[in-house]
Amino acid sequence: MSLRFITRFAHYDAKTVQEATSLLSKYGDKGKPIAGGTALMDILKKKYLPTPEAIVNLKTIPGLDQVMEEGGALKIGALTKLTDLAESSIVKSKFPVIAETVKMISTPQLRNMGTVGGNLCQQVRCWYYNKPDFYCYRKGGPVCYQPGGDNRYGAIMEQKVCNAVIPSDLAVTFTALGATLKVEGPDGSRDVPIKDFYVTLGNILKPNEIVTWITIPEAPSKARFRKFKVRKSWDFAVASAAVATTSKGTVAALGGVAPVVVSGTPDEVSAALDKATPLSMNKYKIQIAKTMLKEAMA
Ligand SMILES: Cc1cc2nc3c(=O)[nH]c(=O)nc-3n(C[C@H](O)[C@H](O)[C@H](O)COP(=O)(O)OP(=O)(O)OC[C@H]3O[C@@H](n4cnc5c(N)ncnc54)[C@H](O)[C@@H]3O)c2cc1C
Ligand code: SF4
Repeated sequence: MSLRFITRFAHYDAKTVQEATSLLSKYGDKGKPIAGGTALMDILKKKYLPTPEAIVNLKTIPGLDQVMEEGGALKIGALTKLTDLAESSIVKSKFPVIAETVKMISTPQLRNMGTVGGNLCQQVRCWYYNKPDFYCYRKGGPVCYQPGGDNRYGAIMEQKVCNAVIPSDLAVTFTALGATLKVEGPDGSRDVPIKDFYVTLGNILKPNEIVTWITIPEAPSKARFRKFKVRKSWDFAVASAAVATTSKGTVAALGGVAPVVVSGTPDEVSAALDKATPLSMNKYKIQIAKTMLKEAMA
């Protein structure tokens, strides 16, 4: 398959959330929203998923790139660039764990382009998925290639049918902070706790829905994020952990270990790690995840 040419598709600049969701309704699962494009353009170029018939640009919707405080809660527009989130004065002063997390995501160039919504909605995937010739469960195919293949960075928990790990670092920290996502579609909006957003093979968004806002209910009295990666400069997490204490208690969340974020009290998450089900090449990740959890709790 040629990697040289991107297949033709229609491109729309949405001016409102309503316009975006009605365009996405028109195309169904053949339409895709795009924000910074740092993840979606890779898919279009490498063609490991069918090229959508229509791309709906969300960046042209005004007002969704704001970070604000409302009654003690932090509200983040889904189109906020990762760099702008880390540099927000409210984030730096009251939610520094978010800024610490963003600084661990990819590279400065990608953080200047990538958005918060795109980071949360990026595909859970593995290096087999990233190749056009591998038609696995997550693409609707009949098999997962990791158990019989190179699975050193695969999941060690909650595998079910897919052994890829959730790549979003923000999802981990937002889960520990008890975030809620505002999901909007042509029929209205709903608030989804982030712990219910991710499911075995993706997230709960319908093809015509987008994430518009993320709300963190309160500033934590204490919170830390820790991430272990192979390359020091930039890399996805081998394992990561966020632990946050608020008026509702202490929540721990793990990334890089399962297709979804694993969360609970620190004791529950630690016990879940004791019952991990590693693949043939990734037992080492259990100790790394335990160490990240311990450091995030310190
Ligand atoms: C080399 C490289 C290294 C990376 N390293 C890391 C890392 O260490 N940690 C990490 O967390 N991430 C990492 N990433 C992912 C990076 O953070 C994301 O690419 C970026 O945040 C995605 O944002 P975007 O706005 O560019 O998304 P896009 O590419 O525009 O979209 C990504 C996906 O989300 C969907 N989408 C976008 N916005 C919305 C919305 N508002 N509602 C619903 N769906 C939406 C799109 O349809 C698409 O499927 C890396 C990416 C690259 C390319
Ligand atoms: S781990 Fe998931 S994404 Fe990777 S090959 Fe298996 S089903 Fe596909």
